[in-house]
Order: sequence, then structure tokens, then C-alpha cells
Amino acid sequence: MSRVVVVGGGVAGLTAAALSASAGHAVTLLEANSTLGGKSRRIEVAGQVMDTGPSLFTFPAVWQELLRRLDDSSHSPSTAAEDTASLNLERLPEVGRYYFRGEVCSLPVPPGHPWHSAWERFAALHGPIGPDVTRLLTTAPMARDAYPSLARMGKLYGNRLSTRSYLDSLTWLPDGLREVIAIHTLNAGVSPSRTPALYASMPAVMAQDGVWVPQGGVHELVRALERLARAAGVDVRTDEPVLELGRGHVRTTQKVYRADALVSGLDAGRLEGLLGGRAPRPPRKLSCSAVAVYAALKQPFPADTSRHSVVLPEDPAALYASLEAQREPAVKSRVVV
Ligand SMILES: Cc1cc2nc3c(=O)[nH]c(=O)nc-3n(C[C@H](O)[C@H](O)[C@H](O)COP(=O)(O)OP(=O)(O)OC[C@H]3O[C@@H](n4cnc5c(N)ncnc54)[C@H](O)[C@@H]3O)c2cc1C
Repeated sequence: MSRVVVVGGGVAGLTAAALSASAGHAVTLLEANSTLGGKSRRIEVAGQVMDTGPSLFTFPAVWQELLRRLDDSSHSPSTAAEDTASLNLERLPEVGRYYFRGEVCSLPVPPGHPWHSAWERFAALHGPIGPDVTRLLTTAPMARDAYPSLARMGKLYGNRLSTRSYLDSLTWLPDGLREVIAIHTLNAGVSPSRTPALYASMPAVMAQDGVWVPQGGVHELVRALERLARAAGVDVRTDEPVLELGRGHVRTTQKVYRADALVSGLDAGRLEGLLGGRAPRPPRKLSCSAVAVYAALKQPFPADTSRHSVVLPEDPAALYASLEAQREPAVKSRVVV
């Protein structure tokens, strides 16, 4: 049995901790904050519980694969991982509703909309790669099993490696639909010229394979992962920021842990800072962020309000240019989600 220390209690750290512990290792998870979840948080506003950060659960086959691996490796298989997790996923009827220069469209684009036939063509090309993405998300990067999926993607994108260059090459896409597809790269905090072509496919994959929200909100995923980690024997410690990651040890504000293996659930820049106790270096390129306003409404939204709406900027190119230049965007080039 090895001593494993996992740094960071977001979804990545919790998942790694649960898998390592169920494989028989002695795992300690160290989280700096008083709550688990990282970017997925739960807050209370005027008596209403709200989840912040991620809003959509995608690629449920990845979740199923995690549960399968936990069951396969568990030393105490008395309770199935699915029962421990107790996560109930609710499929949304659409990916979302998009507002751009006076045009409103849902994804998938419904029949009768001027973009419908172009969307159908785009969706037929890209919707089917969901299982390939799932395979890449659940396979070691250089594993042989990943080769067929990588080959199919190589055939699809060719030498058009960025989302922008790929989408621009699809000259039959109406400009408005192209921008609706491209805006999804902001999920990575950067412009379409800085994300891989694969990002272009995501809206079609989400439309074909579905998007979900766990009953009770996305933060239920964090709670499910915590249950799985604890059931596997993980020693979960909150309020314990890691100050330094050294060879075979981890120093926190409270003590030094010996470790045979360290697993990071941190963003790369933060991790770099902790290795050897150096101060984190500022990122070379900033990614975009947002101001979130959470409010408890006196009346519910009308029944046909989409659960996920995106108001695109009037001028997406100006937004992407300001991201590249590390400049605050002008008001007309901001996005509302
Ligand atoms: C606004 C927003 C919307 C998003 N929407 C979606 C969506 O709809 N669907 C989707 O799938 N994804 C979405 N994402 C992305 C998703 O939220 C992230 O990919 C995911 O939460 C990252 O999890 P993580 O565990 O890798 O990192 P994090 O959540 O960042 O977790 C890292 C953890 O490490 C801890 N930590 C940092 N430094 C230390 C230290 N020194 N010592 C100990 N602990 C430390 C942090 O406190 C944190 O808890 C969204 C993200 C944002 C911000």
C-alpha cells in the first residue's frame, strides 16, 4: 500500500482520490478552502440555495466509467458505487438558447429556422464523435486504445488545428451559426483561435448526446464524489492549504505529510508555484472571467424560459481581440450566460 496525497478538492482531486483509495492506497486529500468543490460552489442568497460555476453535466459515459472502475477495484464491494454516489441526472430538452444580433436560436436548431439545414449538416459531421471524446477522456493519452479515436479526429479536422481555422473552413456555415458554435470556446476562457478544433464539435456532441443537470444542482456532483471518496477510505482534510510539494513530502499550513505519490488537482500555474515552494508565476496569457450576479427572484421565470441562455456580444471578433491583447472588452463585446 502506498501513501498518496492528493492536492485540491475540486472534482478532479476528489475523483483521483476516490480511484486511488479504491485501488488500495492510503489517500489523504488536502483542500485549502473550508468547502470542497473548487470551481463548483454552493451559496445561499435570500434563503435560496444556488450552485455557482459549472452549470451543465456532459459526457455521462465518463461518469459511468468512473463508477465501473470504482466497483471493479473496490475492496469492499458491499455497496455499488452508483448507490453510494446517488446522483440523479436530469436531461435538459436542449443545449441552450442563443441570442445574437437580433437572431434567436436553440441548439439543436429547430426545423423552420433559417440555420436549420446548415446545423443538420454540421451536426451530422460532428455529433457522432461523442464516443471518441469519451474514450480520450477515459484513456491514458498515449494508450493504444486511443489511436482509432485520434485517427477519426485527424481525418475530420485535417490540418485545421484551431477552432477558428476549422470553423472558417466550413464556408457553408451561416456566419451567425458559426459564431454561436465558436462562442463555446469561452468555456475554456480563451478565444477560438487558441482552442483546438475539437471545441468546434462540442455543441453538436452536446446536442446529440445530451446535457444534464443533477437533481438539486451541479454541486450535487461534488457531494457524490465526496461520498465515493470517503467510502473508499480517503482522509478528506479541508482548511489545509498546501504550501510546498517536495520530493516525497507535502508541507501544509499545519504539518508535513510523507507521500510515496502526489496527485495534483490544481491548475498548472498553481502547481508550478508549489513545486519547490516557489511563488506562483503569473500566467503568460490571462483567460477571461466574469462578474456573476445571483439573485432570488420574487416570481419564477415564464415556463418556456431556457435553463441555459447565452447572449452573444454584438461583435465577437472585438471580444476575442481584447482577450488576445489582455484588455478589458468594450461593453458591446461582452457575453451574458
Ligand atoms: C463559470 C464556469 C462555468 C463552467 N461551466 C462548466 C459546465 O457547464 N460544465 C463543465 O463540465 N465544466 C464547466 N466549467 C469547468 C469546470 O468547472 C472545471 O473544469 C472543473 O470544476 C475543474 O475542476 P478541478 O478539480 O480540475 O479544479 P478546481 O475546481 O479549480 O479545484 C482545484 C481545487 O484546488 C484547491 N487548491 C488550490 N490551491 C491549493 C493549495 N495550495 N492547497 C490545497 N488546495 C488547493 C482549490 O481551492 C480548489 O478546490 C465551468 C467553469 C467555470 C469557472
